[in-house]
Parts: sequence; structure tokens; C-alpha cells
Amino acid sequence: MKCYLCKLEGKDTDAVASCIVCGMGVCMNHVVREEVDQWEGGYPFPATKLKKTIPRMLCMPCYNALQEGKK
Ligand SMILES: [Zn+2]
Ligand SMILES: [Zn+2]
Repeated sequence: MKCYLCKLEGKDTDAVASCIVCGMGVCMNHVVREEVDQWEGGYPFPATKLKKTIPRMLCMPCYNALQEGKK
């Protein structure tokens, strides 16, 4: 899989992860790895039942959208 965001810039970079929200492939430069203990909406797991934090791989557009949603 190739990084979708790099592809938009005309580059051809291998993806290291895929966004858990939209599923797009992202490279190291474009991935956002965030460990959060609560996630509104409970996606992809019922977040309210989790005691440990879990890392989530997000693409930048989804991460930005999430940050917007927190304001
Ligand atoms: Zn990229
Ligand atoms: Zn995404």
C-alpha cells in the first residue's frame, strides 16, 4: 500500500500504517499515533470499558478532524 497523502503530492511512498477511521494508507511522515484512553463514540472498541490506553493510527485529516471535534 502507498501513502495516499504522498500520492496527492506526486510522491510514491510506502505506507507504514492505515488510518483506523478512513482506512487510507499513510507513511511515517503522515501518520499520527495517539494513545488515548477515551474516544467518544467508542470506535473501534467500546472505549468506556477499556482500562488501558491503546495506540491508534490516524491519518492527518482524520486527526485534525478529531482535534476540531474536541474544541
Ligand atoms: Zn506520506
Ligand atoms: Zn483517516
